[in-house]
Amino acid sequence: MKEFDLHAVSLKDPFWQHYQKIVREETIPYQYQVLNDALDVDVQAEREDASLPAGKSHALENFRIAAKQKEGNHFGWFFQDSDVYKWIESAAYSLINQKDPSLVVIVDEVVALLGAAQEEDGYLNTFFQLTRPELKYRQLYFSHELYCAGHLVEAAIAYDLATGKKELLDIAEKNVQNIMHYFGREANQIQGADGHQEIELALVRLFEHTNNEKYVALADFFLAVRGENPDFYTQEIAENRALGLSTEEPSIDLTYLQAYDQPKNQREAKGHAVRMLYMASGMAKVAQHTKDPALIEACVAIWQDIAYKKMYVTGGVGGTVHGEAFIGAFDLPNDTMYCETCASIALVQFSFEMFKLTQQHQYLDTLTRALYNSVLSGASIDGKQFFYVNPLEVMPDSCHHNPGKGHVKTQRPDWLGCACCPPNFARLISALQRFVYTQENDTLYINLFAASRLVQADQFVIEQIGNFPFENQMTIRYTGVAQKIVIYKPKWLQSFQIECEQAWQETDETLVFAANTLIHAKIIFQQPIQMLRANPLINQDINQVAVQRGPFVYCLEEADNGKGISQCRLPIDTVAFRLSESQKLWSPTLVINFDGFESQKWTQEALYLPMNEPYVPKNWQLIPYHLWGNRGEGEMRVWLPLALVK
Ligand SMILES: [Zn+2]
Repeated sequence: MKEFDLHAVSLKDPFWQHYQKIVREETIPYQYQVLNDALDVDVQAEREDASLPAGKSHALENFRIAAKQKEGNHFGWFFQDSDVYKWIESAAYSLINQKDPSLVVIVDEVVALLGAAQEEDGYLNTFFQLTRPELKYRQLYFSHELYCAGHLVEAAIAYDLATGKKELLDIAEKNVQNIMHYFGREANQIQGADGHQEIELALVRLFEHTNNEKYVALADFFLAVRGENPDFYTQEIAENRALGLSTEEPSIDLTYLQAYDQPKNQREAKGHAVRMLYMASGMAKVAQHTKDPALIEACVAIWQDIAYKKMYVTGGVGGTVHGEAFIGAFDLPNDTMYCETCASIALVQFSFEMFKLTQQHQYLDTLTRALYNSVLSGASIDGKQFFYVNPLEVMPDSCHHNPGKGHVKTQRPDWLGCACCPPNFARLISALQRFVYTQENDTLYINLFAASRLVQADQFVIEQIGNFPFENQMTIRYTGVAQKIVIYKPKWLQSFQIECEQAWQETDETLVFAANTLIHAKIIFQQPIQMLRANPLINQDINQVAVQRGPFVYCLEEADNGKGISQCRLPIDTVAFRLSESQKLWSPTLVINFDGFESQKWTQEALYLPMNEPYVPKNWQLIPYHLWGNRGEGEMRVWLPLALVK
């Protein structure tokens, strides 16, 4: 299944255009200033730990020092170069959507800086160049060198697509040549993989961009060599010690790195969530080209383990701060979880690659759940503040005083010492049209309802006209060569009515229009407000419901309901939801009101009393989850306790 060139798809959807505009006009210029240390912003560590970098970014300054344009020391995380690469990638995709010569000038300056910092042999990583050159490619359990290289490759592809300029692609390919020189199956080469995956998926994208099969072969190598020798990392550390290169003796957690076995033998989502999902995305991408049945089987099993056992209703993943990791099946704490924005972005990516690999639509259910909820909640509505961790339940006092919640911010910080999420958000939103259409042979797939126009010169033009999810209809117009059109029908849309003179049929997951040279269809649907219950094995959600309308999961916020939202009680048998348009937060916002109860306050000095929960009636208001945390500090919760039947 192929994606279309981003130039060919113009997004006209008001919701997504608004996000792309904010990213273009606010986030990208803001992030450039932050990477340049040109703004006085509050750069916070991602969790409470005095050893973590905070206070400034220093990302571009590191390159200037490596390029010998400035004097100084490296500052920040050892993978900080990737912040710059992801910023370039966002800027490049944004340039595809809207020309901006002044932004091209800025990116060109950064590209020139990267070129100046790159070593003669192609090596590029400011941390190792400036602090530990003797340990280049020798500390793969933590080094992130190939992770950064992967982001460099992705940035280079994006900038070439956007501008046709090859300088960054040359830098990236030179860097990959350097990697190819040092890594491989020859006796004198390194037979191991980076502790943090990313290079795998980036190399497949580089193959798709250049048609050079060496790149997909290298991606396949990195997936095959991972976990092949479980002692690889400890042997590497022992060798460094023996050679006097390092005295470090870190303990290696192979599960954290997904290196306890070869990826093709893995069946569960374990360890660090972002690593897991970057690896899985790389596996699904490699499998699209190699058709390796073992890799496909592993991808399907890992995806099912996440979607059916380890994903939050918001599409968040990673149940614990310890190792920012997946935990056991059906264990989904709502207030101490991690749910990193990057992990949800990676889940969108993995699910999309699984859809391309299999053409099965359940993958798009998960893609949309993560995209509209835990990805979007990663940024404030002005595009300038960012969550790393996306909780489903926040009680500010508890976050401030419970040391187990030090990572759960009640407000989005201006920037983060570990700033992986903000530019990741920007690059995903800027290239959002990637997900809307795909093609397999003579079948055209519409994967997201999003007003847009796809033009393939001399072949066809397809348009979606509407304002989803604010309107309950979408018009599809197609003219061109005869081909079948398959439209994904999300589970949260119901009662489809199709007005169309051409032949079509409806399945559980799709609307299928028979091959034709002209298709004009008006699709009308309902977006009922649904109460979702959780699998009863999820201990944390017992006797609670979540509310969803269209793609949006909803939440209660203190700003609308006052303090004490944990006292909300929802009468499941009689509740009537009322949807209305509000101008607060985002224009328009669809808010939901319902008449429920409030558990009455204790009147006695006691923690526990004989059962008798008195209620008073109360109207509660819900807002889309992705908009929470934009009105100052306050309580928030997604799962709503049910009223006890009287
Ligand atoms: Zn992140």
